[in-house]
Amino acid sequence: MIETADVVIIGSGIVGSSVAYHLAQAGCSNVLVLEREAHQGKGSTGKSMGGVRAQFATPVNIQMSKYSIDFFSNFDEVVGHPGDYRAHGYLFCATNEKHLTYLKANKERQNALGVTNVEWVAAEDIVKMVPQLRVDDILGGTFCPTDGFVDPHSVMMGFMLNAREKGVRLWLDTQVTGIDVECGDSSPLSKALTSQRTPNESSRIAGVHTSRGFISTRVVVNAAGAWAAEIAKMAGAELPVEPLRRQLVPTEPFAELPQRFPMVIDMSTGFHFRREGKGILLAWNDPQETPGFKTEFDTSFIEKILTHAASRVPVLAEAEVNPRRAWAGLYEMTPDHHAIIGPAPNVEGLFFVNGFSGHGVMHSPASGRITSELVLQGYSDLVDAKQLGVERFAEGRTLEETAVL
Ligand SMILES: Cc1cc2nc3c(=O)[nH]c(=O)nc-3n(C[C@H](O)[C@H](O)[C@H](O)COP(=O)(O)OP(=O)(O)OC[C@H]3O[C@@H](n4cnc5c(N)ncnc54)[C@H](O)[C@@H]3O)c2cc1C
Repeated sequence: MIETADVVIIGSGIVGSSVAYHLAQAGCSNVLVLEREAHQGKGSTGKSMGGVRAQFATPVNIQMSKYSIDFFSNFDEVVGHPGDYRAHGYLFCATNEKHLTYLKANKERQNALGVTNVEWVAAEDIVKMVPQLRVDDILGGTFCPTDGFVDPHSVMMGFMLNAREKGVRLWLDTQVTGIDVECGDSSPLSKALTSQRTPNESSRIAGVHTSRGFISTRVVVNAAGAWAAEIAKMAGAELPVEPLRRQLVPTEPFAELPQRFPMVIDMSTGFHFRREGKGILLAWNDPQETPGFKTEFDTSFIEKILTHAASRVPVLAEAEVNPRRAWAGLYEMTPDHHAIIGPAPNVEGLFFVNGFSGHGVMHSPASGRITSELVLQGYSDLVDAKQLGVERFAEGRTLEETAVL
């Protein structure tokens, strides 16, 4: 007997899990999630720093963050599983006038979109939050107290457990190897699911080939993270998503910084850090990194990041680092550093929810909701989803997020 599902989701990371949750919440639970690994979270989700923030530059990212942070603050009650949201804040530290102008414009935009709690802070306020910070060149900054962190693994598991309680199926150890598209009219089911958008009647989803056999479906959601372009190609679609290595360095237990302080961003270098348990988690976007599926940690990165760390927080020069505890994962980058969410223009029934460019954890609630609404009703009540569609690149409507860490 051929397996069937109303919706097949490829990838069970935090994004695929959120889509499954939101579909099930909306009453669509004949959903099958396919994951090639034996466990969830082996992709980027398990490598993430867990940062969540509303301090973005573009309206759509601010809107997605606002919804997501509100969601995280009620996650445990609503989803019924812990998400470990900690509202410790994000503190952006400006070292020149350009930074200040940039933060001012962002703050106004954030305020206009309902994020009203972003505060201006002077160097004196910053020192109160993190006394060990070198502030001689800091002109000021912004602090948002509801920014903070979640535990990405817990959020992913919470979404998926809740979805499974409602009937969603998860197949682990199941690699997607191909996608069938066909010509002709839609079945009544697929018409109901995709009635609002029929960009090209001649090409539509017919099913998915996997290492466990064929699954007949009219709707496929591509939630394959850094591997999303390969999945799109299987259906004959183009998706501009590229993997880019990202490395994180935890210190050994370090008591010389406060037990609780915000994520601190040194805008002069992009170096940022937060507390992780007894140690400090150090992050920096190495401009020399080039696209590719590299996930091994490069030990030469330690010296580079410690140089930035010691320059901004001199006491961090004393921190010990065990290279074996450092790790690398993949960002899924798009040309304008914004997610691609929406139907594939040339394949009816194929939906993208990809290319989060470093923000997939924090935007997982919003992206799950937007995708579920697009699948079930053809539009989103949350944002104008047209702006997130992949066709923006061909149509010259790119968004360009500049607050990328
Ligand atoms: C070091 C690092 C730090 C980060 N920090 C943050 C942060 O602070 N805040 C934030 O919001 N984001 C952060 N991110 C980004 C965030 O982790 C990602 O955007 C997010 O996890 C993407 O989730 P996903 O579910 O789309 O992808 P993934 O978690 O990668 O899941 C995709 C899944 O698809 C599966 N898959 C792929 N191909 C197939 C196939 N052919 N068949 C079956 N299954 C398949 C994979 O096995 C994988 O499990 C960070 C990323 C990294 C690497």
